[in-house]
Amino acid sequence: MVFISIDEVTPVVAAGGKLSATINVVLEEETFFKDIRVMFRGTSFTAMLVSNGSTTYQVSEHHIHVDRYFTLLPDNAGGTTLSAGRHTFPVTIWLPVYSDCKCLARVGEYPKFRFARSWNCVHSAAETGDFGRALLPPSLWASDNLKVGYRLAVLAERPGLFTLNKSKMIGVNVLPVAVIDEHVPNMDPLYIEERAVHSAKCDKLPETYFVNGALPKATGFRKVFSLSSKHSYVNVPMKFELVLGNNATVRLNQKIPISICTTIDVDDVSRIDGIVDARLVSLRLVIHSVTKGVAQQLANSNTDRQTIYDLKGLNEPLVPVLKSEYQQVPKYQMEDHLFEDAVIPGSLSPDFKVMSLAHFHILKITVGMKFNGGSTKYTELSHALNITSGLEYDVNEKSLLPPSYDPGNYCPANDNKSIDDEKLDFFER
Ligand SMILES: [Zn+2]
Repeated sequence: MVFISIDEVTPVVAAGGKLSATINVVLEEETFFKDIRVMFRGTSFTAMLVSNGSTTYQVSEHHIHVDRYFTLLPDNAGGTTLSAGRHTFPVTIWLPVYSDCKCLARVGEYPKFRFARSWNCVHSAAETGDFGRALLPPSLWASDNLKVGYRLAVLAERPGLFTLNKSKMIGVNVLPVAVIDEHVPNMDPLYIEERAVHSAKCDKLPETYFVNGALPKATGFRKVFSLSSKHSYVNVPMKFELVLGNNATVRLNQKIPISICTTIDVDDVSRIDGIVDARLVSLRLVIHSVTKGVAQQLANSNTDRQTIYDLKGLNEPLVPVLKSEYQQVPKYQMEDHLFEDAVIPGSLSPDFKVMSLAHFHILKITVGMKFNGGSTKYTELSHALNITSGLEYDVNEKSLLPPSYDPGNYCPANDNKSIDDEKLDFFER
């Protein structure tokens, strides 16, 4: 019997970094092998189910981002006999910084394949300059039809048509890097302003209140209700100022650089004082991970939502803050400590874009407020959030910079599942 195992595998490998593993071949008796081959391959897979009226078929695309292939038996002319017992082969594979898929450079040919069921990936480890080059994408599982997987496999081949070959395959988690060169990334903060109008119920206001600069009368059914009841309804114009630091870029396991300021958008505090009491009651941050795939120009997409932060039961009043000599408005600057636990999960796949597949993130913030103790009114703010691995590669030194956290925890959901679903014939050359 032949037993093969792949052990001591680097848990997470950075692009440009080193994958090491130990391959153990245990033999019950002396055995002749034609070859024992190792393959490391990273592929992205995009598929769409298409119906032409009578049949439904799958249109798919494979791209090969890294492809390494070598034998464990040196000087193996025609075959090698291994003795009974355990044979240990340490293997080391250096990952590229950039994807070896060169299809982006021939994207112009793409329309011709619009109705074809296959597109042949052209990949090569050779440098081709910046044109049509993409960074090595991270391991990703968005769905069975939108994924990137890296596999390390070993195949022991024995002679004879009817002899079973022995193979073993494992998934490897890969993270992309940012390339550090003379280009300095824009790290300025990003400002986003959102306005929302909520209605508030207050004590009956005389008609004389409603002059320019006052809170306007509520519209719709609340306006009608205001006429007959002992209450008045007013509209409360709100301004939300969201600041995302580092040009809305954040790495895995890092606190989101965020700050929010909420203001009642009128010029004069005397128009609000004693009329509207506004309080911040909840704060929720949700990350939408969007994966968009194209298979022969047919689009496919998937969105995963993950609540990373949910703060309830707040009771923070908006208090008048002197903005200038002339202007006092109720405003609430949400303190930094409120966002202390708003951290990017280490399992999210960072943003990337390769031929036929793109992955990016949107941060949605829901601010809950109460006006005069009424029901909670929600305002949603959203902006793209560029999630990076935080790992950096120095092109001049040709080496990875020390990571600022332990990337060993990166584990995109369902990676093992995608191994079972692997349709690609791994050892087909
Ligand atoms: Zn390709």
